[in-house]
Amino acid sequence: MSVPPFQEIAPGTFVRRHTELDLNCGLVVGSERVLVIDTRSTTSRGQGLAAAVREVSPLEQVVVNTHAHYDHCFGNAAFRDSQIYAHVGAADSLQRTAEHQRSQVVEHLRRTGREDLAQTYLDTEVVLPFYLVEAETTAIDLGDRTAYLLFGGRGHTDHDLVVAVPDVSTVFWADLVEQGADPAMDDSFPLEWGPTLTRLQQHPHVKGAQLHVPGHGEVVEPQFVEEQRERLSTLAAELSSALIAGIQDVDGLVAKTRGLGLQDSTLRDAAVRALETRSGATEVNAAR
Ligand SMILES: [Zn+2]
Repeated sequence: MSVPPFQEIAPGTFVRRHTELDLNCGLVVGSERVLVIDTRSTTSRGQGLAAAVREVSPLEQVVVNTHAHYDHCFGNAAFRDSQIYAHVGAADSLQRTAEHQRSQVVEHLRRTGREDLAQTYLDTEVVLPFYLVEAETTAIDLGDRTAYLLFGGRGHTDHDLVVAVPDVSTVFWADLVEQGADPAMDDSFPLEWGPTLTRLQQHPHVKGAQLHVPGHGEVVEPQFVEEQRERLSTLAAELSSALIAGIQDVDGLVAKTRGLGLQDSTLRDAAVRALETRSGATEVNAAR
């Protein structure tokens, strides 16, 4: 399988877009160190990524895991000598769910006749991130420039980090923004995702940014992020009013949320998660 090089999308700012799951990894190069955004899905893929980073820069590598889904962090063993940052909730989630995630992927690969690839997942050692952050904004000093890890609240998971690089007007959104497929709702907080995007868009390091890198798919313009924010905010509002009106079943919630340009399977996952997470949303709203 051919391995893509890093593409420079802005000075010293790169994206490596992979065939597998259309996953984007990011790279921000400073004068003293570089920041690697996400590590791919297996140790061997992580090693390929680390080598691609070294082709761009020989400097010390600092890593961030944007969240605990396997495709973004199972390559951590290839970066075990680096500082690996993540939200505190990501380390907790990875500790609880890594073996379940691994078995799901292995089962899927075996079912589709890809035993060799399944073995690379079995050979992968899950390495937990250990520079854990909780703050809304964490500065990562790269020497002559700074990247910022931002936490805006619950959305795709309860621990998504976004990376803002204000000197090149760029934001790496991880899976809070997805291009080419619907946002993935399986572990999401659909009543809060839209409001979280709204909060992040108003962050001084994000406001007015011109280049937006989704967790999967192609680099997009501000308008795309705005449309996704509006769609997820409308989804949150419609789910919320349906729940208040007493609709308690998945089919009923799906029927109330059609017409947003999201697939029924996405709406179904969102409805399931809205029912599972609604008490949390009530607490959040009451706290405001
Ligand atoms: Zn994800």
